[in-house]
Amino acid sequence: MRVAVLGSGIVGAAAALELQRDGHEVTIVEPGPPGGEQAASFGNGCWLSPGSVIPMSAPGLWRKVPGYLADPLGPLTMRWSYLPRALPWLIRFLAAGATEGRVLRIAQALRPLVVDCVARHRALAEAAGVGELIRQTGLLYVFPERSDFIAEAMSWRIRAAVGLRWIELDEDTLRQREPALDRRYRFGLVVEEGGHCTDPGAYVAALVRHAEAQGARRVQTAARGFRIAGGRLQAVQTDAGEIAAERAVIAAGAWSRALARAAGDGVPLQTERGYHVSIANPEAAPRLPIMPGDSKAANALTREGLRIAGQVEIAGLEAAPNWQRAEVLLRHALATYPGLPRDIPRERIRLWMGHRPSTPDGLPVIGPARASADIVYCFGHGHIGLAGGPASARLAADLIGGGARILDPAPYAAARFRRLPWQENAAAAARHGTR
Ligand SMILES: Cc1cc2nc3c(=O)[nH]c(=O)nc-3n(C[C@H](O)[C@H](O)[C@H](O)COP(=O)(O)OP(=O)(O)OC[C@H]3O[C@@H](n4cnc5c(N)ncnc54)[C@H](O)[C@@H]3O)c2cc1C
Repeated sequence: MRVAVLGSGIVGAAAALELQRDGHEVTIVEPGPPGGEQAASFGNGCWLSPGSVIPMSAPGLWRKVPGYLADPLGPLTMRWSYLPRALPWLIRFLAAGATEGRVLRIAQALRPLVVDCVARHRALAEAAGVGELIRQTGLLYVFPERSDFIAEAMSWRIRAAVGLRWIELDEDTLRQREPALDRRYRFGLVVEEGGHCTDPGAYVAALVRHAEAQGARRVQTAARGFRIAGGRLQAVQTDAGEIAAERAVIAAGAWSRALARAAGDGVPLQTERGYHVSIANPEAAPRLPIMPGDSKAANALTREGLRIAGQVEIAGLEAAPNWQRAEVLLRHALATYPGLPRDIPRERIRLWMGHRPSTPDGLPVIGPARASADIVYCFGHGHIGLAGGPASARLAADLIGGGARILDPAPYAAARFRRLPWQENAAAAARHGTR
């Protein structure tokens, strides 16, 4: 079949390759350069984390909302001016993780998307000739004290419940393994099955090049809608005219909302804007990718240098970046690796802002569109899209092909947003037999 893939971040790039593997004729529709800075897939924290199963929404989070509004440089902020537009999403967001049972159900649905993420990425990267960009070194979480880890007991209890294993490191072992790390961190844990990508932008670009080398057509334009007749897709409408297609995959990350609307579904998709700072030739750096419990920023050594990625800003797709937020990440870098000089020349520092495509419950949207089952959604991966992209892409290809599926797509259906948050929670509980 002729399949149009709309968007070529990691999700679209992986979908294009999975569809080719199934023998389809693929056209990639993407307005930007594949792997370019416009995509979240370019500037993320590089983590391929099998433990990324805990949604941002947590029990009691609503109590912190006033603080988030008040502190423009806190780890999660909302711009006042954007609040009215974000409110419906925010209400669903707070409801999604309001109890431990809800968080567990989300974790159970996320885990199959990330459980074997390193192996999936390695296979894709090797086929594209860039196997060296994927490393299975493990991932390290560090805390000032063991009690700080215990304070996050619910998250780790749920990670353990869905099958994640880790090794605890005492102060001496941590010191030996990560000599550059500030001494205030005295406790750590390693997730050995985790890994990272040393250059996500170059990686995505290589996957798209590989798809093109295998015969995919790439059209540099934006998709805008669909021509559907009798419930069957005829063509994708783009800024450059129509592209005839029997099937389409919507994988346009944070820009997918308008395309989903054109395909019949109102999906509450927000951008959780994030930032990174990258320091070229760092004087001090971690050996493993590190997540400090206090900054909650993903630290990783990339081909470009030391990258610190994180922060959540709810301010929409259009607002200008607030670069002070990236400066906060720079301060985290200096506080985490004391061997970095205080006066790093600015030409060695690069700042980036990008858009996490985020649903309120932290689960992606994967499944058929309401207007036509020929259109399959594959977007909304929020904080886990690099890790979860390949498995999601495989599931989307399975749904296009109509045969066996790697996993049950029910938890990711767009239809969940047709119910009110509490109705959806009851439906999910019934699916899982839990409350
Ligand atoms: C600061 C930060 C840190 C992160 N850290 C991690 C991490 O460590 N690990 C992890 O797993 N995830 C992480 N993420 C999340 C991850 O980066 C995203 O979930 C993932 O990149 C989303 O991929 P995507 O392909 O859906 O979207 P994108 O990568 O954003 O790609 C979407 C593409 O669609 C294109 N597009 C836009 N409009 C149209 C249109 N009309 N038609 C066609 N195409 C269109 C865009 O140009 C873009 O190229 C992080 C994100 C951020 C911002």
